[in-house]
Amino acid sequence: MSTWAQLLANFAVVAMFVSAWIQTHVWADRLGPRTSSAAFGLLMGVGVVALMNIPVQLMPGVNVDLRFAMVGLSGLFGGPIACLITGVMAGAFRLYEGGMGAYAGTVAIGAAMIIAIAGHTFLRGRSPSRRDIVLVAAAVAVGSRIGLAVLPWDVVQAYMKSAAAPSALLDFASIVLVGLALYQERRRVEALHSKRIYKQVVDALPDCLNIKDLNGKFIAANPATAQLMRATDEKALIGKSDFDFYPKHAAQKFHEDEQAVLRSGKSVTIDQQFTHGDGVPIWLSTLKTPLTDYKGRIIGLITHNRDITERKELENQLAASRIQLTDALAHMADGLVMYDKSGRMLLCNEQYRAMFPRTEDIRVPGSMHRDILQTAIDRGEIVVEGEVETWIDNVIASQGTAGSREIQTGDGRWLDVRTRPTDDGGRLSVFTDITVAKQAAAELMAANAKLDDLAHRDGLTDLSTRRAFDESLEREVGRSRRAKTPLSLLLIDVDWFKRYNDAYGHPAGDECLRAVARCIQATARRPTDLAARYGGEEFAVILPETDARGAFVIAETLKAAVRDLQLEHNGSEKKVVTVSIGVATFEGTGELEIAKLLRRADEALYGAKAAGRDRVHGWRPHAENAVPLKAVKTNI
Ligand code: GH3
Ligand code: MG
Ligand code: MG
Repeated sequence: MSTWAQLLANFAVVAMFVSAWIQTHVWADRLGPRTSSAAFGLLMGVGVVALMNIPVQLMPGVNVDLRFAMVGLSGLFGGPIACLITGVMAGAFRLYEGGMGAYAGTVAIGAAMIIAIAGHTFLRGRSPSRRDIVLVAAAVAVGSRIGLAVLPWDVVQAYMKSAAAPSALLDFASIVLVGLALYQERRRVEALHSKRIYKQVVDALPDCLNIKDLNGKFIAANPATAQLMRATDEKALIGKSDFDFYPKHAAQKFHEDEQAVLRSGKSVTIDQQFTHGDGVPIWLSTLKTPLTDYKGRIIGLITHNRDITERKELENQLAASRIQLTDALAHMADGLVMYDKSGRMLLCNEQYRAMFPRTEDIRVPGSMHRDILQTAIDRGEIVVEGEVETWIDNVIASQGTAGSREIQTGDGRWLDVRTRPTDDGGRLSVFTDITVAKQAAAELMAANAKLDDLAHRDGLTDLSTRRAFDESLEREVGRSRRAKTPLSLLLIDVDWFKRYNDAYGHPAGDECLRAVARCIQATARRPTDLAARYGGEEFAVILPETDARGAFVIAETLKAAVRDLQLEHNGSEKKVVTVSIGVATFEGTGELEIAKLLRRADEALYGAKAAGRDRVHGWRPHAENAVPLKAVKTNI
C-alpha cells in the first residue's frame, strides 16, 4: 500500500470513530457526564488501537499514525476521564507492540495526554473554540516529540532530519481537521438545544406567537395561537391563513393590516376587537413585525397577540365608574376635596371651587394643601387670628384624624368642614355652606334672649320679675353662705296705693309705679344689686355683701328719694306718694333659710306700715317672735 493510501486509511479510521461518536453521543450524554466521557474515551481508545494496526510508512523505517489526534481530541473534548482511558489504551498497546520505540512512543502518548488535559482544564467547562483546537493541536504536535528524548542520539538525529517535520505536521493537521468536525457537532448540538428551549418557551407562552409567509399563510405557530383560532392544534394551522378561521370581513381586515406592515417594513402594535363565529367578542393587543432573512429581505411576518379582553372590560368598567363618580360629585350639594398622603390635591368638585372664588384658580388637582391655605390667607379669603404659619401647621396636622370644624370666609360666609382620613393615608373633606343655618341660629338665639328677657323683666316697670328675683335670691344667698358675707333684702310697698288708683285712675297708678321703680333702680346701683317688682305695688331689692347698717342707709335713701319725687297723693296724709320699707339681713354666719329671710323682711315692712308708713323698719333678732317690730333709728 502506498503511503497516501495508508494515510487515507488512517483518516478513514479516525473519521469512522468520530462519526460513530457523533451518532451515539446524544444517547451516551443521557447517562451522565462521567459515563459519557468514559464512553468517549473508550471509543477513541479502540480507534487508537485500530490506527496503530495500520501505520503509515512515512519513509523506510519511519512509521507514523494519527494516534495523537485521537488522544488529543479525547482529552480536549472528553476531559481527563476520556483522555486517561484513550491514553492508557494507546500506551498499553504501544508497549505490547514492543520494539525500539516502545518507550519513546509511550512517553509521547503521555505527553499528548498531559497537554490535552491541560487544554481541557484551561477551558474551565466551556466548549473549545476553533482557536483552542488549533493551539492544542500545535502543542500536541510539538510536545509529543518529547518521546524522542528516550531514544539513542543517532536515531533522534536521523528522525529529526527526515521525519520530524512531516510527522508533526500530520499530527497537527489531523487534530485540527478532526477537532473541527467535533467542534461543528458541538455547535449543532448546542443549536439544537437552544432551539428546543425556544420551542418550549414559545409553546408555553400564554400569548399567541406565529409566523406567516408573505401570502399570509402560517409557517409556524404556538399552541396559544391554535387555541385563539379555535384550531385543533398548531399543526393544523400550517399552510392555512386567517381566511380559513375567521369570518371573511375580519380576515380581510387582518390581511390588509399585515400587508401594510410588510409594505412599510416597520413593526406596529394595534388593539383590535373581533368576534368569533360564536359571537363572543375578543380584544387583542397585536404586535406585527416583519421577518427578515440573513440578507435583510422581508420573507414573512411575525405576529404576537395578547388577549386583553379582560383588561379592556376593566378599562370600560373603570371609565364607566369614573363617569358615575364625576356625575355624583358634580350633582352633590356639598363641596368635596381629596388630598393624598403628601398633601397634594387628588380631586375636587366644582362646588368646592365655587365656595372659594378668590382662590378658585389654585384649587385644582396637583396643588399642595399648604400652598392653597397660604394663598387663601394672602388674598384675604380666610381670616386667621394669630400666627399664620402655626394656624396652617395646625390645620395640616388635624387632617390626620376624623373631625369637623367651622371656618369663616373673608366675605362673612360660614363653612362647615368635615374631614376623614382615607385608607391610603390621604384625606377627604366635605365642605357645607352653613351661612344660612348660622344666621338662623343667631336669630334664634336673639329671639331666645328676648324671650328670656321678657320672662325676667317686668313689662310695666322694667325691673326684674318676681321669677328672676326668686332665682337671684337663691343664688345670692348660696354665695353669701359660702363666702360668709352678709346679704340684705328690702321689701318696699307704696303707701295707700289703692286710694291713689281710686283718686287718679289706674293709668296714673301705673305711671306712679314706674316712677317709684326708677327711683329704686337708681338707688340700688351696684352691679350685683337686683331690684324687682315683687307683686302689685310691692318691690324688692337684693343687696349682696351689704350688712344691716348699709341696707338701712340704702332704704332710707330710697324712702327719701320717693318722697322727693313729690308725686301728688291726696289720699295720703303725707299728700305725696311715699313708700314703707322692711329690711332683713343675713349676716353671713349661721343658717338662714330664704323663706325665713323673706318673712323677716315682710314682718319688718308690716311693722313700718303699722308705725305710720313712709318709714324704714328692720327685723331684730331678739324680737323674732314679736309683732309688730319697732322702728330702727338711723343716722342719716
Ligand atoms: P297700704 O298703704 O297698706 O299698702 O295700702 P294700699 O292701698 O297700698 O294697699 P293694698 O294692698 O290694699 O292696695 C294695693 C293696691 O295696688 C291694689 C291695687 O289696685 C293696686 N295695684 C296693684 N298692682 C297695680 C298695678 O299694676 N297698677 C296700678 N295702677 N295699681 C295696682
Ligand atoms: Mg301692698
Ligand atoms: Mg300699699
